[in-house]
Amino acid sequence: MKTIALIAHDNKKPDMIRWAEENKKELSRFALCGTGTTAKLVAEATGLTIERYLSGPLGGDLEIGAKVAEKQIDIVIFFWDPLQAQPHDPDVKALLRIAALYDVPIATNISTANYILRSDLLR
Ligand code: PGA
Repeated sequence: MKTIALIAHDNKKPDMIRWAEENKKELSRFALCGTGTTAKLVAEATGLTIERYLSGPLGGDLEIGAKVAEKQIDIVIFFWDPLQAQPHDPDVKALLRIAALYDVPIATNISTANYILRSDLLR
C-alpha cells in the first residue's frame, strides 16, 4: 500500500479539508500521514485514519522529509501558502528539496493533487 503525506499551511487548511472530503474514497486506499494539525483536522472531517507527526512549525515537515528520504512516503500533498511567510520556511524548502531529490510526486495545489490521485501510475 502506498503512503500519502498531507500538509497544509493555516490559510490552506480549508482547501485541504474540502479536497480530502471530496476524495475520501480514493484516499481510503492509501496509508495516510500528515503534520499534526492538518492530520487532526482531516481525520476529524473525513473519519480517515491518519498518522500524525509533529505540527509543521515544530518540525513536522522535517519528519515527513526524513520519511521521504527513507522511501516510506510515496506521495506528498502539500498545500503551502504562497501569500504568507512561515516561521518554518527553511523546513518547507527542505521538504520541497528532498521530494525533488527522491523523485517523489508532490502536489502543491488542488489541481496537481487531483492529477496525482487519478493517475494510472498509481495502479
Ligand atoms: P500543521 O503544520 O499541519 O501542524 O499546521 C503544517 C505546516 O505549517 O507546515
